[in-house]
Amino acid sequence: MAVKIFIATDRLDSVLEKLSTKIDLWIPALLKDDKSGPTGFVPYEPGKAVAFDRQTTMSLKKVLLPQVETLLRFEYRKEPEGAINSTLAVEDRREARPTLVFGARPCDVRALTTLDRVFSNGPYVDPYYTERRKNTLFATLVCRQTDAKCFCSSVGGGPADMEGSHLRIVRTDDGYIVEALTKEAQSLLDNLGDAPDASREKQAAEIVEEVSRRRVGDLDTEGSAEAFRKRFEQTDYWVQMVSQCLSCGVCTYVCPTCYCFSITDEAENLKGERLRSWDSCMFYHYTLEASGHNPRPTKLERYRNRVGHKFSYIPERYEGLLGCCGCGRCIRSCPVSIDIRQVVGHLKENTNE
Ligand code: SF4
Ligand code: SF4
Repeated sequence: MAVKIFIATDRLDSVLEKLSTKIDLWIPALLKDDKSGPTGFVPYEPGKAVAFDRQTTMSLKKVLLPQVETLLRFEYRKEPEGAINSTLAVEDRREARPTLVFGARPCDVRALTTLDRVFSNGPYVDPYYTERRKNTLFATLVCRQTDAKCFCSSVGGGPADMEGSHLRIVRTDDGYIVEALTKEAQSLLDNLGDAPDASREKQAAEIVEEVSRRRVGDLDTEGSAEAFRKRFEQTDYWVQMVSQCLSCGVCTYVCPTCYCFSITDEAENLKGERLRSWDSCMFYHYTLEASGHNPRPTKLERYRNRVGHKFSYIPERYEGLLGCCGCGRCIRSCPVSIDIRQVVGHLKENTNE
């Protein structure tokens, strides 16, 4: 079984086409017909260009947690004798096919450790996410396109971090070296290409070594959980940090570790389906209770909750795990330039007063 292959740049599409006959394949690509427009992960189609030049606008979480998914279909079967004899037929819509995400970034794969804790590691197991997760492999790019918004090394990751990945992709001068990191990934490389020659191997090894040494970001998260608790009631702090927030929710939609969702039933006559859709804790209606009470009535409480969730509640609940992978997407996409690094970085300032 092949362990490592070289793919020349101009052969990438034909190799991906072959790969897509073995497994459901997702790639990073433009989401609109606009070269400077948003990018995200999409199912592979022949001829679709892979967007490897920058971090995708949207993360890969939708592969495992679709933006909208049908959980089940239902139908009431009414009996003429009366309601007591009527029945409800439910069809489970769970579906998990073997899938490969080609061109993931290390931060995105690391982000899944947060989703795993919530959806798969108990006490409640979400079968939809968990089955997709078990069936999905990640071919991850050694990341050389970090920018000023990235801070993966500050939150436990790094641009060459391969934890959770099944294949490693190194982009060289004239192509890609793809290496299987797990046994289950080896057969995917069979008949896709030849082993790299010695000079390309050497170049790839040098790239991996150089990228592994890089430290991306300088946010100090040590003690942030405790500092957050001290800041919790300091309204002035939160006003200063988030008064410009528009409550647009973009930060949560692009974030690979945000997972708020809502469940709705859509029915016509006696048939319908139950849908799960992404939601956002930055929206007023997300926490609005049936009584009319809202525990997070203003953007201040909502943003505070978002920061607390990632840097205080998750670490306290899951043995220090941070709920942020440092991808920088929320910073890049926020229309009023709110920077979570500044909010977290300032938490510790003068909290001993
Ligand atoms: S909070 Fe921001 S930087 Fe952290 S994982 Fe989410 S989008 Fe990325
Ligand atoms: S993207 Fe910015 S403005 Fe929009 S909800 Fe998030 S912090 Fe507020």
